[in-house]
Amino acid sequence: MDELSKTIQTDDYKKEKHVPVIEAPESVTGGEVFKVKVSVGKEVDHPNTTDHHIRWISLFFLADGEDNPIQIGDILFEAHGSSTKGPDTSTVYTNHCGTLELRTEKPGVLMASSYCNIHGLWESSRRLEIG
Ligand code: FE
Repeated sequence: MDELSKTIQTDDYKKEKHVPVIEAPESVTGGEVFKVKVSVGKEVDHPNTTDHHIRWISLFFLADGEDNPIQIGDILFEAHGSSTKGPDTSTVYTNHCGTLELRTEKPGVLMASSYCNIHGLWESSRRLEIG
C-alpha cells in the first residue's frame, strides 16, 4: 500500500466509532450561509485520552461538475489530558466536534476526513442540494 488515499477507511458511523459524522441540511438556499456540524463518536463513543484520541476533522465540499473538492476548514482538537504531571493527569479534554459555516451557489457533496492517533484516517460524505 503506497498511496495515502488507500489508507483512508470508512464505514457506517452508527457502528464504527471513527467515522466522521456530518450534520447539515439536506437542502439549502444557493448563496446563503449555513452550518455544518462535524463530529466523531456520535453513536459509538471514541476514547479521548492522552494515549488515544481524535486529532482533527477536516471538511471539504465538492460542487457538482468540479474536479477538486474545496477545503472548507479544519478543526484541531489539542487538549487530551496532557500536563506536566504526566499523561491523563489534566482535567481538560477537547471534545472532538465542531461547527463550520459555508455558502455555495451549487449543489454537491460535503466530505469529511478525520484522524485518530492510533486508528488512522477515516472519511464520510453527505449530499447537499440547492432548494
Ligand atoms: Fe481510535
